[in-house]
Amino acid sequence: METKIDVITETRIVAIGKSDPPGSIDRKLTLAGGIIRQGGLVAFPTETVYGLGGDALNSESSRKIYAAKGRPCDNPLIVHIADMTHLDRIVSGIPPKAQKLAKAFWPGPLTLIFRKSEVVPYQTTGGLDTVAVRMPSHPIANLFIRKAGGYVAAPSANLSGKPSPTLARHVVQDMMGRIDMIIDAEGVEIGLESTIVDVTGDIPVILRPGYITQRMLSGVVGETDMDVTIYDGQSTQAPRAPGMKYRHYAPRGELVIVEGEPQNVVRYINEQTALREAGGARTGVIGTQEVLSQYQASSVKNAGRRRDASMVARQLYTFLREFDDEDIAYIYAESFADSFDDSGFGQAVMNRLLKAAGHRVIHV
Ligand code: AMP
Ligand code: MG
Repeated sequence: METKIDVITETRIVAIGKSDPPGSIDRKLTLAGGIIRQGGLVAFPTETVYGLGGDALNSESSRKIYAAKGRPCDNPLIVHIADMTHLDRIVSGIPPKAQKLAKAFWPGPLTLIFRKSEVVPYQTTGGLDTVAVRMPSHPIANLFIRKAGGYVAAPSANLSGKPSPTLARHVVQDMMGRIDMIIDAEGVEIGLESTIVDVTGDIPVILRPGYITQRMLSGVVGETDMDVTIYDGQSTQAPRAPGMKYRHYAPRGELVIVEGEPQNVVRYINEQTALREAGGARTGVIGTQEVLSQYQASSVKNAGRRRDASMVARQLYTFLREFDDEDIAYIYAESFADSFDDSGFGQAVMNRLLKAAGHRVIHV
């Protein structure tokens, strides 16, 4: 079904600063929550990326979210809650392993898939009998969700096909005139979407890697599986969630991931960028700090230290948006495979980078 875009002329931008008095924050979020209760849409910061929120229990709100994003309506939304006691109402049973994971990682960047209860409309779950639930740790998100009535359906606040927004200005670029309010605040620290784990079966299955790694999950519940479609672009297995089949953001330029010994990677990338630039094209590089000064591309982005994937995670979507703005035709990224990275977060970075690169990887 084609989703109709609702025309809203005025999008209010409400900035909330760290030094705002609590009374003023409370007033702003009461206003924002009121918009959700009345069926409107508000973009809000979380610790992962900005979310585009609507009332999760109102099917018309969910329809509006799909319309504002231009997103296919069988790609399910995540329901955000602010309190563990609110979970019961929207799920039909909490399996013991889900209970343990929630206790260990909520509030935080972990989304759990449960069987849904009757109050959750199919418009929110993309037609599925399961519902994705997360409790964000961002304090503004938490208070906003409470003010909104406790259940906020929110995908990332970008237009479908664009990278998830990690700065308020990304949300402004994509959502002005399409939603009622944008809450602009700091604290979007992680920069990649939440880890998604299906807890409806005996063994929890990771559907999307994120800041909460497989090692962290297994440390709490023992055995966990990783959905095969996560890394393998050629996989013929049907994805578990409809959303996983959709093409994710790719920059306008051609993005290639280059893997190998650091000096070989630098040499290869410099050869390629020199060739492309000689042909009149602008080139870009996402490189680690250790070798950054050796690159000669038009636009060189600093991914931080090789052994710490958190910086590239925070910046990746900003880099991809900037390459488009800078008219970069060819982009080369170093690999951030987890073997380099102490945090284990490199897996999530690689997952998003592989999607953006259409799984083009060169070994040198
Ligand atoms: P986002 O792309 O950050 O808006 O998150 C939404 C994603 O969560 C979807 O694209 C799905 O991959 C996943 N998701 C949401 N609900 C479900 C569900 N019931 N079952 C499986 N995956 C889900
Ligand atoms: Mg998204």
